[in-house]
This record gives sequence, structure tokens and C-alpha cells, in this order.
Amino acid sequence: MPLQVILAQPRGFCAGVVRAIDIVERALERYSAPVYVRHEIVHNRHVVDKLRRKGAVFVEDLSEIPTGATTIFSAHGVARTVEEEARLRELPVIDATCPLVTKVHIQGRRYAKSGRTLVLIGHAGHAEVIGTMGQVDAPMHLISTPDDVAALPLPIDTPIAYVTQTTLSVDDTRSVIEALHAHFEDVEGPDVSEICYATQNRQTAVRDLARVSDLLIVVGATNSSNSNRLREIGEEMGIPSYLVDDGDGVDPEWLHGIASVGVTAGASAPDELVDSVIAALRSIRSITVSKLDGVEENIEFSLPAVLRTRVAASEMAPEQEQI
Ligand code: SF4
Repeated sequence: MPLQVILAQPRGFCAGVVRAIDIVERALERYSAPVYVRHEIVHNRHVVDKLRRKGAVFVEDLSEIPTGATTIFSAHGVARTVEEEARLRELPVIDATCPLVTKVHIQGRRYAKSGRTLVLIGHAGHAEVIGTMGQVDAPMHLISTPDDVAALPLPIDTPIAYVTQTTLSVDDTRSVIEALHAHFEDVEGPDVSEICYATQNRQTAVRDLARVSDLLIVVGATNSSNSNRLREIGEEMGIPSYLVDDGDGVDPEWLHGIASVGVTAGASAPDELVDSVIAALRSIRSITVSKLDGVEENIEFSLPAVLRTRVAASEMAPEQEQI
């Protein structure tokens, strides 16, 4: 019997990742290489390497960027101190922060202004969490599990507002929000369905996929939060679940006694890597490939105004704009 390979729908790139990559590519067209990107534009080595070959330079600190060089902030967002440092250095900045991450920053500022004590549900050290905590001029308590709620050093009548990292497990986030409501008397915050359509859709799709698969392969980077969550959902659903960078990560041993393999990809993993996983599976066994029914996404985020029109090679403008 051929191995059944079943693809999740949706999987792979979300609108925020497409926009961030477009921003780097169009900035390279408009301003010529090099353009400097603070942090990996999205958490995927293949995407980063491809842009690097086109002339993008990835740095972790603005001090590594020469005076006057085009500077792009990654999709995860940055703290205000980073924006301020760029402004003081008069770096021409293009901000590739995903609009849904910016929405979290705006919510956080609004709640802080209304006098509520802020709780951020997220993972310490993640670039998006560092950015969000640095975008709100008010103390923020970072928690990641329901057990963290009782440990918050706050009286139960403290008016609380929560915001969240966009790429968490939807179910885990819901549990933390429920724990906040159970512990505190006055809690405000967005419903989990409002946080990120892409995270929600990919997690729903992987759950459906795990129901009909003997084994799950998630294509994505080990530092990609949303890819890790997809793999964890496969495990929670009781099937062996693996996270691979690309087809080279597929181990033939996994396929012994397996009739069907579900394949999905994190929001920062390009389609070509899913193709490489399918090719790897085909090199081990004969396969059939089908796609599960699921949500068809048609969300697009607009580019920054300065990059909306494409530049013909003959009309490359040397002038850089600060936005
Ligand atoms: Fe934006 Fe959601 Fe994609 Fe993150 S996963 S870049 S928040 S659309």
C-alpha cells in the first residue's frame, strides 16, 4: 500500500509573513543592497538565507547598522527604545511589524491608559514578547500558564487587562484567560478568536489532520513559536509528531508501520520546504498526496506606503524615505 500523505489546509505562510518578506524584497529593489534587517525577518532559516543572498544583512542590534543605511524591523515588532535609538541615529526605518502584533501594542497602551494593570500572556525571551513589553509605558506582568496566575503579586480586586503573544496555543491561552477570570474580580481583554486568524486556522487544521493521520510532520524552524505549537497539538492528539526544517529532517525510521502521514507548515515556512518533505517521503516509500478540506485564507496586509509601487530596474531611486 502506498503511504498516504495528507496536507493540512491552511498551512504555511500567513499574511504577516508574506508582507514582511515583500518589504525586504521591495526595499532591496528600491534602495539596492545592502538593506539591514533587525532580527530574523521571520523565524525561518531558509527565508533568511534567501534574502541574505539577495543582499539583506541581518543584525541583532542597531549598533551594527552603518549610519544612513536602510533599516527594517522584523515582523515580531520592537520595543520603543529600539525605535528611539533608530530615530536618534536618523536611520531610515521601514517597519515590517505584523499589523496584528501592532494591534496588540495598541490594545496594551489603551488598557494601560484606562488604569488597568497589564498582564501579557506569552513566552519569556521571544522577540514578539520583548517588543510588546517595550511598547507599553506601564509595568506588565508576563505569565504563560494558568498556574502563573495565582502567583501574580496582585490583590484580587486589581482591575486587570491582558494581551497575548500572537502565536501561542489557542487552547492554552484560553485556559490562562479562564484562570485570570477565576482569580481576579475585574478582567478585560480580547477573545482568543480575535488574536490572530492564522494561528487559530493552522491549529484548527492540524487538529483535523491529526484525527486522520498516523504521524504528523510540521515543517518549520525550531525557534518558530507557532510551528512548535503545531507539533505539540499533534502530540496532544496522541500521534508521533516531528518538527523538521525541510526534507532532510525526515527520518525513514518514522515510517515503519505507518499508513498515513499528515504534513503541515508553520506560518513562516515556505511551500518549497513542504515540497521537499513530500519529495523525501517519496524517496522512502511510494506515496499518494491529498489535501484536507479547510479554511481558504484570502487575507492580505497592505505594504508601507513607500513600498507599494514596484520599482522598475531602470528607475531605481537612490532617495530613501523615513516612515
Ligand atoms: Fe501576523 Fe499572525 Fe502571521 Fe504572526 S502568525 S505574523 S501575528 S498573521
